[in-house]
Amino acid sequence: MTSDEIRASFLEYFRKNRHAIVPSASLIPAGDPTLLFTNAGMNQFKDVFLGIGQREYTRAVDTQKCLRVSGKHNDLEEVGYSPSHHTFFEMLGNWSFGDYYKQEAIAFAWELVTELWQIPKERLWATIYLEDDETEKLWLQETDLPLSRIRRCDKDNFWEMGETGPCGPCSELFVDMGVDAYPETANDPDAGPNTSDRFREFWNLVFIQYNRNEDGTLEPLPATHVDTGMGFERITSILQGVDSNYKTDLFTPLLTTIADMTDTAYFDDERGLPHRVIADHIRCLTFAIGDGVMPSNEGRGYVIRRILRRAVLYGKKLEINEAFIYRLVDNVIELLGDVFPDVLPRREFITRTIQGEEHRFHQTIERGLELLDRSFDTLKEQNGTQVDGKRAFELYDTFGFPLDLTQMLARERGFTVDDVGFENSMEAQRSRGRAAWDARGGAKDEEISVYAEVLKEHGETEFVGYTQNNIDAEIV
Ligand code: ATP
Ligand code: MG
Ligand code: MG
Ligand code: MG
Repeated sequence: MTSDEIRASFLEYFRKNRHAIVPSASLIPAGDPTLLFTNAGMNQFKDVFLGIGQREYTRAVDTQKCLRVSGKHNDLEEVGYSPSHHTFFEMLGNWSFGDYYKQEAIAFAWELVTELWQIPKERLWATIYLEDDETEKLWLQETDLPLSRIRRCDKDNFWEMGETGPCGPCSELFVDMGVDAYPETANDPDAGPNTSDRFREFWNLVFIQYNRNEDGTLEPLPATHVDTGMGFERITSILQGVDSNYKTDLFTPLLTTIADMTDTAYFDDERGLPHRVIADHIRCLTFAIGDGVMPSNEGRGYVIRRILRRAVLYGKKLEINEAFIYRLVDNVIELLGDVFPDVLPRREFITRTIQGEEHRFHQTIERGLELLDRSFDTLKEQNGTQVDGKRAFELYDTFGFPLDLTQMLARERGFTVDDVGFENSMEAQRSRGRAAWDARGGAKDEEISVYAEVLKEHGETEFVGYTQNNIDAEIV
């Protein structure tokens, strides 16, 4: 099956089971100050779970654009290394708003996965929340999953979107990638979900029943709900019989283009890290900018700027010294534009925005890298381990290196960065900025006196704007 067919079959399966197909929400959560970016399919239904909003339907299904680059769910550092973690990904999901609960959610999941998609049953595992006997009983009753492949877990099986918000115990589905690929697990009697990458999580069934309050307490919700999230790129890799999301038809066209554009070969191993990171980041940039996030120095915009600069840096590892990532926007839109059509009219805008950002960063990156290299050399000579916070700040302030970029480069060479020192320098600059601002307040008087002198010398100017403009208007 192609990825498009897989997505369509998910939506169609739930549509047949009386779920309304709804569009993806924006990556910028609407009216939710607790969240920087949409990180799960359920975000757009938060008000329904809390009992303060309503929809015309009680069952829904969709594919949701998600970003996991900040807050409680942040996978940025994993990107390129992990075969199944992205910054931007699609989350397939089905929901019940006070309609069906655990039993049907499990029955639907099992039927879709084992009958429609034919994933061999012996490869499947489930996890449940510690004391959730009811869910265990339902797996045994509704499916033919044996008890030996059900694991009880603590932290991974209580799902929360952030510090506050709707949450509850969950039950996850994992697929066994096979002992051959993970021989170290062969004789481990405990091998199972959450113990080894051999077991890949692909679907989370969350049983929403609480709200986490700001003081940390759990408050039961007026009704119980089902919220599921399935990583679309992951299920695609499983159904296409490959061991990495990057080997699916969602990524191979991008990786091929990147290899062509940079005149390099792509490899599945660490040599292909730059290609994978760039492929990941351009998807993220395309949709984040498409949803209205502009690269900037704060908040969402700074997260996006950091991701873009990371991509530029990986481009440099492929010896690309000029803007080129923007040229991949077309490829991303070709792959996903039909699914998220909001992006279509913004193609040109997204392309130009990325190109401009790339171009500006290229102007300083070389000198920044040289400076950092000198720091590394000095550290080595002096047997030091940590890059000075002042130097990290200089890289940030003068050369546009976000702290995490410097940290990433330092880590590659076995060093750390003094982030406390970085913050101190940042704070010192802020107070200098404030002082300069106050001084400008004084300068205001100065400006006034300059104006007074001009007045004395030339007399009052006569304001003729209205009349002249009227004349112009009439001529036109
Ligand atoms: P993992 O343990 O693999 O990090 P998770 O438990 O953090 O995943 P959930 O919050 O349960 O993920 O999200 C639901 C599903 O979304 C996951 O089962 C997975 O298939 C998918 N998913 C989660 N994070 C990512 C990511 N960074 N990139 C791609 N897919 C993801
Ligand atoms: Mg995770
Ligand atoms: Mg998990
Ligand atoms: Mg999970």
